Amino acid sequence: ETFDSMGLHENLLRGIYAYGFEKPSAIQQRGIVPFCRGLDVIQQAQSGTGKTATFCSGILQQLDGHLNECQALVLAPTRELAQQIEKVMRALGDYLQTKVHACVGGTDVRQDQRICQSGVHVVVGTPGRVYDMLRRRALRSEHIRMFVLDEADEMLSRGFKDQIYDIFQLLPAKVQVGLFSATMPPEALEITRKFMSKPVRILV
Ligand code: AMP
Repeated sequence: ETFDSMGLHENLLRGIYAYGFEKPSAIQQRGIVPFCRGLDVIQQAQSGTGKTATFCSGILQQLDGHLNECQALVLAPTRELAQQIEKVMRALGDYLQTKVHACVGGTDVRQDQRICQSGVHVVVGTPGRVYDMLRRRALRSEHIRMFVLDEADEMLSRGFKDQIYDIFQLLPAKVQVGLFSATMPPEALEITRKFMSKPVRILV
């Protein structure tokens, strides 16, 4: 399998190749296409497997570039990881002119508010700040169609369960969910049962 055979938009492919990727990794070969079809996916994968580009490609493929609204939300356990995902998303989406913003703790809330209100396509963040933005209505959830939990096990072990549940309550009911986790503790399985429908499971 190649990136070319996945049915991806030409400008997304350009971003992928310009980033330096030539061949999809195992998780990308199995995960990108189901995500692009809008299916809920559970991917049990460690970091280093190429999981970031899997969900970034799946999101970028499904974005409506003409709609200046947040359509995808990605949660990560740490600021550093959220900012790293933001960079990858921005790079892969470079030729699609995708607007990506990281909402993380320890930064100016008002600036986050301004940027979110100015219109971004994808928000990547840590649960606390993202919930704050949603609660203030600085980040509007009406158009969010994709929701990714990266390193879900790590987020749960850091005590973000309640905030993740609160965020789910604020999102449209039919949101597509991608859950990425190295391990599957009971709390992660509970999320899959409560919020995902007929998920595709991929183990790499
Ligand atoms: P991740 O698991 O997303 O943290 O990615 C691990 C590392 O693999 C990162 O440095 C990526 O840039 C790199 N990577 C991901 N996918 C590919 C690919 N298809 N070809 C080459 N490198 C990749």
